Amino acid sequence: MTDAMTEVFTTIASIRAACDAARARGAVVGVVPTMGYLHDGHLSLMRAARSECDFVVVTIFVNPLQFGPNEDLDRYPRDVDGDLAACRAEGVDAVFMPPVSELYPEYPPRTIVHVAGLTDALCGASRPTHFDGVTTVVTKLLSIVGPCHAYFGRKDAQQLAIVRRMTADLDIPAVIVGCPLVREADGLARSSRNAYLDETQRAAAPTIFKALRAGVAAVHEGERDARRVEAIVRGMIESEPELRVDYVEARNADTIGTIDRIAGHVLVAVAVFCGSTRLIDNVALDVCGDEVTADLGTGWQAPAS
Ligand code: AMP
Repeated sequence: MTDAMTEVFTTIASIRAACDAARARGAVVGVVPTMGYLHDGHLSLMRAARSECDFVVVTIFVNPLQFGPNEDLDRYPRDVDGDLAACRAEGVDAVFMPPVSELYPEYPPRTIVHVAGLTDALCGASRPTHFDGVTTVVTKLLSIVGPCHAYFGRKDAQQLAIVRRMTADLDIPAVIVGCPLVREADGLARSSRNAYLDETQRAAAPTIFKALRAGVAAVHEGERDARRVEAIVRGMIESEPELRVDYVEARNADTIGTIDRIAGHVLVAVAVFCGSTRLIDNVALDVCGDEVTADLGTGWQAPAS
C-alpha cells in the first residue's frame, strides 16, 4: 500500500482537465466507477487499475437514475471519509465525487442510453429502469474522463456484459476490464448492501453461494440441462427460510440470451431477497464437452471436505 496524494474533484471540468493533463504526459488513465461505501470488491478493482494504469480515478456517485421508485436510494449506505481513506491507502490519484446537480443539471435527464435485449432479462426484468440508469451514467463518466481503461466487477456480470456491448456499439474509447467477484470468507458475495442484513439474515445469506456451488457440482458431474441446474440452485436457496428467490437463471454469459443446454460460456445468476434486501450473485462456467471450468470468485475459503 502507498500513501500517495489523492486529489478530490467535484466538477466535470476539473476532473476532465486532470485526465487530459495525465494523458498529455503519456499516462494511461484507469477509472473505477462506484457508488461508494467501498469494500474489498471495490478495492480489488482499484488494485487492478493501479497495477495496469498510470493515473487512477475512482468515481463515487450514488446514481439516482438507476434506482426504481420504491428502491433503497434514500438509505443507500454512505461513508465519504472512509471511502477517501481507502482511496488514499490504495494510491488512487483522483476521486471524482460530483453532486447530483453536476451530472444531472436537469432531472430526470432528457437523454437516456438504452442497450436493447441484454437489459430485458435477469435484473432488467425485476428492475425495469435500472440498466438505463447504469448505461446513462457510465456513458457520461466515460465521456468525462476520456480514453481510459475502465474496471468493472464480475459480481455484476449482466452489467459488465451490457457495458461491454454499449462501449463497442457507441465506439466509446474505453478498454473494459472485468475483474473477479470478491467474496467474504464464508462465501457471501461482498456488497455494500450486506450492511442492511441483521444477524440472522447474515447467517443465512451464505446459502446463496452454497446453492450456486451445488449447481456447479452438478455440471461437473455431467448435468447439462439448464432447467435442472436452475432447479438444484433454486431448491437449495428455498430450503433456507430467510431467503426468497427473485430469479435463478442459466444464460449465455455474453449475450444474456436463453439457453437450454449448459455449453460454452454460461452464467448461472441469482437474485435473492433476504428480508427486504435484494442480493445478487453468480458463477460463470466454461463448458466444452466434458471439460468444465468454473469461475467461483475469490476471497472465500472452501469448506474442508
Ligand atoms: P457498486 O458500488 O456496487 O456500484 O459497484 C461498483 C463496482 O464494483 C462494479 O463494477 C461492481 O461490479 C464492483 N463490485 C461490487 N462488489 C463487488 C465484488 N464483491 N467483487 C467484485 N467487484 C465488485
